Parts: sequence; C-alpha cells; structure tokens
Amino acid sequence: MQLLVETEIECPWCFEQFPLVIDTSSGDYEMIEDCSVCCRPIQLEIRCSPGRLDDVQANPG
Ligand SMILES: [Zn+2]
Repeated sequence: MQLLVETEIECPWCFEQFPLVIDTSSGDYEMIEDCSVCCRPIQLEIRCSPGRLDDVQANPG
C-alpha cells in the first residue's frame, strides 16, 4: 500500500500552491508546515486513512 500521498495545498497567507507529501499511515492528524514560498507557518488539518487522503485544510498558523 502506498502510504505517502502527494497533494497540493494552497497557502492561506500568500495563496500560492505547492506540493506536499502526506503520511497517511496513522490516520487524522494536524501539523505545522512552513510555506515553501513565503515561509510563514501553515496549520494543516489532515483527514486520512491509511493509503487514502480524504481532505486537507490549510489555516493560518
Ligand atoms: Zn505562503
């Protein structure tokens, strides 16, 4: 099973999109990721089950 799923997220600060690899192995989680364009922190709420990415919400951290 492919547990690492690549997706695109939109930065809530600068609205640029960039790719991010999500580890779906342990289900729903939250993480902070710095935007690769403007470097500001993005709070990500990730909804997933192993091998399947359901939804990613990107909020200003
Ligand atoms: Zn940004």
